[in-house]
Amino acid sequence: MSVYIPVELQRKIRARFTECCAYCRTAEYLTVSTFEFEHIIPLSVGGETIFENLCLSCPTCNRYKAYRQTAIDADTQQEICLFHPQQQLWSEHFAWNEDATEIIPLTSVGRVTISALKMNRPQLIRVRRMWVKLGEHPPNIP
Ligand SMILES: [Zn+2]
Repeated sequence: MSVYIPVELQRKIRARFTECCAYCRTAEYLTVSTFEFEHIIPLSVGGETIFENLCLSCPTCNRYKAYRQTAIDADTQQEICLFHPQQQLWSEHFAWNEDATEIIPLTSVGRVTISALKMNRPQLIRVRRMWVKLGEHPPNIP
């Protein structure tokens, strides 16, 4: 669903996420995509178009997340909430591996989110390898 997001709100969200995908942390300027404003709690279940419920997302993470808020953890078979970019810190749930090509989960939230959003998809790992060589990755975000 497409919804109008005021330009000033778009600017605030872009700044909040340092022009990077709130999930896979891809920097928008390294891609040919226009990143999207993702409703963390979907509109279809009452999520609002407000700063606290929006994040910047690359189109691929946005497609995989879609309307979901939870996913089944393959390790425990439990239903776990996906990472909430406005309420949780990325660095508490995720880390980069040694060569910064893959995202490692630090928690069950990290684990289900990486899996559900396919944050280590092979194409992304390949392109991250090139960005590392160019000195453009990983992004320097707290
Ligand atoms: Zn992404």
